[in-house]
Amino acid sequence: MPLVTVSNVTKEYTSGEETIRPLDGVSLSIEEGDYASLMGASGSGKSTLLNLIAGIDRVTSGEIFVAGTDITKLSRGKLADWRAANIGYVFQTHNLIPVLTAYENVELPLLLLPLSAAERRKRVEIALEAVDLTSRASHYPRQMSGGQEQRVGIARAIVSNPTVIVADEPTGSLDDETTEQILQLLTRVNSELGMTLLMVTHDADAGARAKRQIRLERGRLVENGKVTSTANLRTA
Ligand code: ADP
Ligand code: MG
Repeated sequence: MPLVTVSNVTKEYTSGEETIRPLDGVSLSIEEGDYASLMGASGSGKSTLLNLIAGIDRVTSGEIFVAGTDITKLSRGKLADWRAANIGYVFQTHNLIPVLTAYENVELPLLLLPLSAAERRKRVEIALEAVDLTSRASHYPRQMSGGQEQRVGIARAIVSNPTVIVADEPTGSLDDETTEQILQLLTRVNSELGMTLLMVTHDADAGARAKRQIRLERGRLVENGKVTSTANLRTA
């Protein structure tokens, strides 16, 4: 069974009289250990789909199974607990908390889980080591470069050993050299740590680094040039 199964998912947003439907019957599966990139033009629904899989947003209809749990059936409270245990999220801008050190930023998601202080320390140290920032543990975000901050952001995403890592334009605000570092790190997170990754990007070069490319194109989900589902941007 795939690790993630998106089944006939529709998402509508209504404001006033207007309803838009960025996702209309989207189906997708992601196997454990996969590294998939989700590409498409601005406004094509990439972030919407990512946030539905991450349990941040709710579907209008359809089902999303992650490791056997249909997350569309969870209450809001249960979904928050599920997310803390199962999703690592890498943001475009790292979203680090400025008054916390690198160590404390990485530890933050672990405070939502039932772990001892010793277990938390061990996991934070492993995550900082994985992104090669052990020597920066006591530094604050303002004392780090953009690339280092994003590496802390990746450490924070992997520290809980989540079921899936989702990344929304993780290189969107970085220069070319730093982008290359972060893409190499994401590849290692997949190949060496064995983590399953879904990365949204509008950058074709970045997307090509994943093992598999999926595209939302004029509202349709396309893989390897083949339309795999119906999805559209039309006004409903
Ligand atoms: P992408 O990430 O591909 O740029 P999004 O998923 O952010 O696209 O957005 C897809 C469409 O849904 C856009 O038309 C956007 O304006 C709309 N949209 C996204 N989030 C919301 C929201 N919370 N409320 C209303 N419309 C939204
Ligand atoms: Mg987006």
